[in-house]
Amino acid sequence: MDFELTESERAFRDEVRAFLDENLREGAAESPAFLAEWTKKVRAKRWVGFSWPREVGGGGGSIMEQVILKDEMAKRKAPPLGTCMMGLAWVGPSIIQYGTEAQKQKYIPDILDGKYQWCTGYSEPDSGSDLASLKCRAVREGDDYVVTGQKIWTSLAMWAKKMILLVRTARAGEGAESGSPSGGAATDGAKRGAASKHSGITCLLVDMETPGITVRPIRNMTGSAHFAEVFFDGVRIPVENRLGDEGQGWQVTISALASERSSIAEVHGLVRKIDEVKALARETVRGGRRMSEDPGIRRRIAQAEAKIEAMRLNGMRFLTKQLRGEPLGAETSINKLHRAALEIGLGELALEILGSAGTLTGSEAPAVDEGRWARFALGWPDVVIGGGTPNIQKNIIAERILGLPKD
Ligand SMILES: Cc1cc2nc3c(=O)[nH]c(=O)nc-3n(C[C@H](O)[C@H](O)[C@H](O)COP(=O)(O)OP(=O)(O)OC[C@H]3O[C@@H](n4cnc5c(N)ncnc54)[C@H](O)[C@@H]3O)c2cc1C
Repeated sequence: MDFELTESERAFRDEVRAFLDENLREGAAESPAFLAEWTKKVRAKRWVGFSWPREVGGGGGSIMEQVILKDEMAKRKAPPLGTCMMGLAWVGPSIIQYGTEAQKQKYIPDILDGKYQWCTGYSEPDSGSDLASLKCRAVREGDDYVVTGQKIWTSLAMWAKKMILLVRTARAGEGAESGSPSGGAATDGAKRGAASKHSGITCLLVDMETPGITVRPIRNMTGSAHFAEVFFDGVRIPVENRLGDEGQGWQVTISALASERSSIAEVHGLVRKIDEVKALARETVRGGRRMSEDPGIRRRIAQAEAKIEAMRLNGMRFLTKQLRGEPLGAETSINKLHRAALEIGLGELALEILGSAGTLTGSEAPAVDEGRWARFALGWPDVVIGGGTPNIQKNIIAERILGLPKD
């Protein structure tokens, strides 16, 4: 990989730096008024959806420009580029790739403007890692699909206005759902994949206010509730809300999850976390000395930093592949696996630095930072389980990179 920027890439980097100098004020990121103004300004620059085609309202940015933009933003701890998290990460890219013209016009501008949140209805009580075994069922009735079943762990479901939903329109190995009034309505896409267990899955774009949808929040071990169970009881979804062909849901999902995996591989969040843990070690005095002077703590911080740097360089390898026009494959699982171990390790390290006070929550001493570190240490499932568990990443690495037999 060539680490030098070209002249035009340097010019773009300088443009981003100048924008940050002009628009980012110390501490301003906390203020809702500043955030609203910031969002408008980065949208006007077309830096929201920067890699998306210009004809759908994106920035048409090159891969290298994206890296520069994200790097400069992360270094200055700038607020996010856009607020519609899942919309920008995978719903939008899927709509751009598989959506009809009407779907693009209906959803893409709202995602770029951050008008509302999307949620993702993939996992079910018995279908997480083995997503293709999902059972939530949709039967075609005239111009609607009638959906019945349950989803679980749906992040943001309580606040989201739309959901990208996976349903079964036919049993694996079959064409259209038997008993469906539209009997032979399965498209070529469904028929082609009919032999595989991934066939018969269809992707729908759902309005969360549709009658028959019930959202029941789940409280996690930190005490917060940001995901939910979602129940569908005879919910009518217009056929025009189908993304891709009937039976093509697995392909739509694979491309969506590939977008997720490539974003998960980024190390900016970890760099920010290790900086915070270092500051915590400097500020915490136990047994008469700063914890940043403790050789054991220093060693663990250095080990974590070395791993993060290794992840950054590994990320450069993926980037080199992308720049050569080669598709990203199983390699992103390597960083996802390292990230899982680092997230758990950094939480444990923060609690070790603080000692017993670190486990307390509440606003009064001896609790530290209102229990922020205890919540941080308990928050690991978000990044360790969400997006694929470590065991699944190990399977992917073993089978697709190391060429070991299937488990
Ligand atoms: C914070 C958070 C947010 C989430 N948000 C969403 C969301 O918005 N939308 C959504 O659809 N889902 C979401 N999920 C669900 C997530 O995708 C699933 O939890 C995940 O895919 C694992 O599935 P599962 O919980 O059914 O566990 P299982 O698949 O039952 O796994 C249980 C254990 O068995 C292991 N295991 C399973 N299969 C294998 C195998 N073949 N080989 C070796 N080990 C195996 C796993 O590694 C794990 O340790 C979220 C989860 C979390 C924690």
